[in-house]
Amino acid sequence: MFLNLRRAKLIAWGMAICFLLIHVLMYSVFEQCKVTPMVRVNIFSIIFYLAMLFVVYKEWFSIYAIAIYLEVAMHMTLAVLFTGWGSGFQITLIGMNVLAFYAEYSARALKIKYVRVMPFCLIGFILYIGSYIYLHFNPAPYELTGKAEFWLTILWGVIVFVINLFVLQLLVYIANSSEEKLEFQLFHDKLTGLPNRYFLAENLKEVENGKIKKYWIAIGDIDNFKRINDTYGHKCGDYVLITIGKILGEKAVVCYRWGGEEFIFCETAARSFEEIVSFLDEARKEIENYPFEFEGQELGRITMTFGAACSGNAKTLNDVFREADAKLYEGKLSGKNKVVG
Ligand code: GH3
Ligand code: MG
Ligand code: MG
Repeated sequence: MFLNLRRAKLIAWGMAICFLLIHVLMYSVFEQCKVTPMVRVNIFSIIFYLAMLFVVYKEWFSIYAIAIYLEVAMHMTLAVLFTGWGSGFQITLIGMNVLAFYAEYSARALKIKYVRVMPFCLIGFILYIGSYIYLHFNPAPYELTGKAEFWLTILWGVIVFVINLFVLQLLVYIANSSEEKLEFQLFHDKLTGLPNRYFLAENLKEVENGKIKKYWIAIGDIDNFKRINDTYGHKCGDYVLITIGKILGEKAVVCYRWGGEEFIFCETAARSFEEIVSFLDEARKEIENYPFEFEGQELGRITMTFGAACSGNAKTLNDVFREADAKLYEGKLSGKNKVVG
């Protein structure tokens, strides 16, 4: 998860400090242009953002988000009504919406009770249109100098643009990385990190629809695994699964965890039975010779049995699976720790 409490706090503080500085700047602009009501509003806003630093410290994020949205809406509407459309304040009424959506996202991510921000955005929009209509019929009581209007319009354009760019990029980054993470989790086994049966099913789609005709499958099953669990406990069983997963996962052919203590090798290429058996036998020997040790205790020899089958004339994917499974069963019945192809 990208957003944790610490990051959310830092972002919220950073935002409150930026807004505080903007209001200090606005205070001096309004004072120089002698817009007395807005000077007072800005004094209120400066105190407001100082209080918001405390609100963030207390982690009252819902209050923070709603209060800031209302402050921006109130402040900017008053500013535009007092000084006219030319001052450019109104752009913030619709330009700040991304911040509201960011707040909604972060509240959900932090598991805080949250409100839908859509209606709030509607308030901003109504204030924007309403101010325009009002100013169309009633001139603003104060007039800023041409220079002040020029720089304020540029300033608000830059601020709104930067905020939009930053927040949208952040949200896209979060959406993309969580989708990648979810996809990885969906297609990989949590314990061993190997691709899982769903990954295999995805990869076998081309086999199923006939695009790939040459392939082979081998099912490997740990011998007497239940005994390991029963003797040394489940944690030790997990250690064995992880270790075997690591050994098999480093082989040239992709290995999947099928489930339980069963693993599958699958390769979409033509190989002779001799090649497949010698490849599997190498893996089998490596496991047999591995010095398994859990919490300082030697576990002795752990072995695996493999059953392999190749694609062939008129064989369906199911047939190949069934054949590999039958071969595995054959190996188990005839003494285990072997490859049957
Ligand atoms: P065989 O030689 O015939 O394969 O016997 P086996 O004991 O290996 O086979 P069995 O199917 O009887 O036992 C498999 C055991 O694997 C049962 C189950 O508790 C255990 N198992 C399955 N998944 C996990 C897991 O993720 N962790 C652990 N520790 N054990 C698991
Ligand atoms: Mg087994
Ligand atoms: Mg089994």
